[in-house]
Amino acid sequence: MITISREQKILITDDSEINRSILADILENEYEIIEAENGVQAVAALQKYNVELALVLLDIVMPEMDGFGVLEAMNEHHWIEDIPVIMISAETKSSYVERAYGLGVCDFINRPFDALVVHRRVMNTILLYAKQKKLIGLLGEQLIEKERNNNMMIDILSHIVEFRNGESGQHVRHVHVLTDMLLRRLIQKTDQYGISSSEISLISTASALHDIGKIAIDEKVLNKPGRLTDEEFAIMKTHSRIGADMLEGIPIYQNEQLVTYAYEICRWHHERYDGRGYPDGLKGDEIPISAQVVAMADVYDALTSERVYKKAFTHEKAVQMILNGECGTFNPQILECLMDISGRIQKELNSEAPAQMDQRDMNNMVQEMMHHEELTASERTLLLLEREREKYTFFAAMSQEIQFEYNVSPPMTIMAPWGAERLGIEETIMDPYNDPRVTRLSSQKDWKEMARMLRETTPEDPIIRYDCKICCKGEFRWHRIVARAMWSPDDVPVYQGAIGEATDIQDSRQMLDTLRRKASHDALSGLLNHASAKELIIQRMAEQPEGQYALVIFDLDHFKQANDTYGHKFGDEVIKFTAAKLEQCTRNMDIAARVGGDEFLIFLDYQNDVEPIISRIFYSLTGSYEDFSISLSMGVAKSEMVGMDYDKLFRSADQALYAVKRSGRGQYRYYDESMHEMFSAISTIDSDQDEQAEQDGGNSQDE
Ligand code: GH3
Ligand code: MG
Repeated sequence: MITISREQKILITDDSEINRSILADILENEYEIIEAENGVQAVAALQKYNVELALVLLDIVMPEMDGFGVLEAMNEHHWIEDIPVIMISAETKSSYVERAYGLGVCDFINRPFDALVVHRRVMNTILLYAKQKKLIGLLGEQLIEKERNNNMMIDILSHIVEFRNGESGQHVRHVHVLTDMLLRRLIQKTDQYGISSSEISLISTASALHDIGKIAIDEKVLNKPGRLTDEEFAIMKTHSRIGADMLEGIPIYQNEQLVTYAYEICRWHHERYDGRGYPDGLKGDEIPISAQVVAMADVYDALTSERVYKKAFTHEKAVQMILNGECGTFNPQILECLMDISGRIQKELNSEAPAQMDQRDMNNMVQEMMHHEELTASERTLLLLEREREKYTFFAAMSQEIQFEYNVSPPMTIMAPWGAERLGIEETIMDPYNDPRVTRLSSQKDWKEMARMLRETTPEDPIIRYDCKICCKGEFRWHRIVARAMWSPDDVPVYQGAIGEATDIQDSRQMLDTLRRKASHDALSGLLNHASAKELIIQRMAEQPEGQYALVIFDLDHFKQANDTYGHKFGDEVIKFTAAKLEQCTRNMDIAARVGGDEFLIFLDYQNDVEPIISRIFYSLTGSYEDFSISLSMGVAKSEMVGMDYDKLFRSADQALYAVKRSGRGQYRYYDESMHEMFSAISTIDSDQDEQAEQDGGNSQDE
């Protein structure tokens, strides 16, 4: 886990005090802020706090020393490798930006900036840097461990060779150190050979095996004091080819770069730049650079060491002899390298510590590996994020919908540019509940209702739909909001906010409203009559065919009794009372109508589950009017079950209602297929009974 510690410091460098204070305000909750008024002060702060600094925010134009001066100093002292820098400037010239990136800044933020953006980018940069550092450290440790093991094996092996050769026991180590030094100098001078820092380590390690072929040479020849005969010399010369053959004969590790280098070194470390070496007579850069450098190291160490057949030359003498061409011809660039490092060679060879990379080399090497695909992890992530944002912005503009994001902690709203423009507000607004720019966009009631609905969702069922008026640059227009609550993935999910979009439905709403206004109403209840309700419902389903709808029909139970007991007028009051209740317990988008007599209809749309809505309506309508207790029988048909067909919905709801009446009243039921069968069976019986009743009635009247 990477944690941000409050002990970490951020250095803000800007000559304007107000600018520094704005940035400090954004960041001082999480970091200790160090301020510098100019480049000179910044460098002093860098010197003082060094890696305690988690980040540097840097302005370009400043007195004394400008931002680029600071960056140059950071490069010179290698601070730039450990401390990320974000440039903040009003200068947008591409040459500035390019130069800044060239000097190693991580990010470039243009002034004027958005506080939130600065905050996010600072956090991102620090986190990515911390992560990368941790990774580098981990990999580095692994590499050091692996390297140590490899080196140990190679040391053991090469010492065996060395003892047999009667060498000092230091030859292998010396060749290793020299090879490393020469190559590091070489890549500073030229990139002609395309060698990386990690490859230098491999070549130096492989150099230990340069004389491995000597294992196969007769000891008498190998350790003969004095000059070798031509024949003996011919035998001696075979060691380079034998070593290479041995490596080639190893069936495994053939694809390892280490083995490839070892092969080159074994086989060609006695070649000469002028083509007069052995075994293959390669010339110039036909000889791999690994072998060329090891050859130089080998010759130098042979000259400066004592052998059975010779005394040791001094360092100066040995270098002199090599430069004079007394020991063969070498690549002029490698000769230059020898001269360049000449002053340091003896010190390095005599140092107690075995040649080993220090942590910095190791980090460089790992960084090189990580940069392999050209981009660092952070750059790539930022690029991908930027691309995602572009996509989202594009689609939002295309769809002409207001897309938004709401975050609970910290509380903020983020709008896609098209929506922000349409509403005439900023894309990012902090603390939106207390910001009039946001609150005035819709009524208090609508905000509350939406917030309630979102919080009442579950991770399994997170989507809500809500129609309300939203203010678009001064004009309130109907919008349909579809939003998805965001729940944390914890065991006990936490509500984190929502994303969603608002679609302008003003025009279709207006049509509905006009229809509603023109629609004929029932004189007694004031509700729509059945014909106009039907028209509106059909219109509504056609407008929003993606919706889920329910049609409810209910009929008062034993209403005749009200009339009979208290009179027709009283009955009328019961109907008016029920109609008023019905208006109360339905939303204004629902359609309520009196179908006729004591029978009513409700058409409503819903999101996930209609049951809570139905039960709420049912129990609100149940009650009493004066002494008459109001009980009702209710049937519900859902569009998801019977389709978007008004007649079918009506028939099905009616069948469900009928089923309730038959089973004793005072309940509600949903239509299902079984009812359909039951209904057709029952209706035939009923109609027989009705006929019978009519006949009976007729008879009794006659009497
Ligand atoms: P059930 O439980 O089966 O519904 O029995 P019910 O007594 O409610 O009878 P039903 O629904 O079949 O009949 C409704 C009665 O309502 C018939 C009629 O006398 C009465 N009615 C119809 N329209 C009006 C009206 O406008 N005003 C009044 N006061 N009564 C009406
Ligand atoms: Mg009735």
